[in-house]
Amino acid sequence: MKSWEENIRKVVPYTPGEQPKRKDIIKLNTNENPYPPAPGVIDALRSMNTDGLRRYPDPAASILVHAIAEQYGLDDSQVFVGVGSDDVLAIAFLTCFNSDKPILFPDITYSFYDVWANLYRIPFERIPLNGRFEIEKEGYFRENGGIIFPNPNAPTGVLLPLAEIEAIIERNRDVVVIVDEAYVDFGGESALPLVRKYDNLLIAQTFSKSRSMAGMRIGYLMGNEKLIKYISDVKYSFNSYTMNQTALELGKAAAEDRAYFEECCSRIIETREWAKSRFRELGFSFEDSKSNFVFVTHDRVPAVEIFTALSEAGIFVRHFRSPERISNYLRVTIGTKEEMEQFFAFLENYLK
Ligand SMILES: *Cc1c(COP(=O)(O)O)cnc(C)c1O
Repeated sequence: MKSWEENIRKVVPYTPGEQPKRKDIIKLNTNENPYPPAPGVIDALRSMNTDGLRRYPDPAASILVHAIAEQYGLDDSQVFVGVGSDDVLAIAFLTCFNSDKPILFPDITYSFYDVWANLYRIPFERIPLNGRFEIEKEGYFRENGGIIFPNPNAPTGVLLPLAEIEAIIERNRDVVVIVDEAYVDFGGESALPLVRKYDNLLIAQTFSKSRSMAGMRIGYLMGNEKLIKYISDVKYSFNSYTMNQTALELGKAAAEDRAYFEECCSRIIETREWAKSRFRELGFSFEDSKSNFVFVTHDRVPAVEIFTALSEAGIFVRHFRSPERISNYLRVTIGTKEEMEQFFAFLENYLK
């Protein structure tokens, strides 16, 4: 007998980091920003016209698109916004990776890429990072249906220099190359200037990390006008109103406050550099991180044990059971200086 279940699209979903209900914890497990959103966001929320919620929002999300375009010196037609970068990346996969050839991404990377590839039935190949967790450009010099990688990479925090990115794009002019810059504001170098030179380059960024707005769900793509138009057409074939009115207004306010944004990023960078020296003192090793987290392994104590001890003490970090190669690592988000002091005080005592 046939079952309706045979016709179901079965997928293995992405598993997001835990969001514990308890309030008395130190949360260093999902790379959120420890600082509040820009003051302008609070003002925008207070002055929101709730009667306006009767109406559909602007499907083109113009006020937010314009605010982002202004910040980066782009034309509005070069920006696409969505419900977090997970949303804009999912739409970009659907739009841009439409060939029978495999798309390429690193073997150790953001674990949503293979989920989308499987969801859309896009073939893919994982290109191994080298022993220092670096992306090696030569791995991407082969036939493919598209390329995506984060820069800095996740969960390693390792940055790929712009010249290497350009070499990858140059060798792959007949496919779309997506650089996922979720963490680029913490000391990385954006590939955005290359958008003028390469019409097959797409940059993804998010308000979730450097702009302290993970709860608002805002992400965006920047690229050539023609490419953005294709992506936009797919969005309109899916859901015209992805961005709600609150997200549009608060996102605009966040985008416009550049000084606050830069201040928060530099505080996190400062804490990260201090944290690196504390990690070293305590017997951890790691590749250099240019993101708001550090990916560490201890020379004596297994990662799972440290993870469990931290959780029991109400300190949450992220541990990935697979792939095997990173199962002895912990990804620790950079919190406030005070949070990190408590974190290291616990470790110092625990590792004694
Ligand atoms: C956090 C993250 C995203 C998704 O962020 P959103 O909250 O959906 O904007 C995308 N890519 C990478 C590499 C990330 O770490």
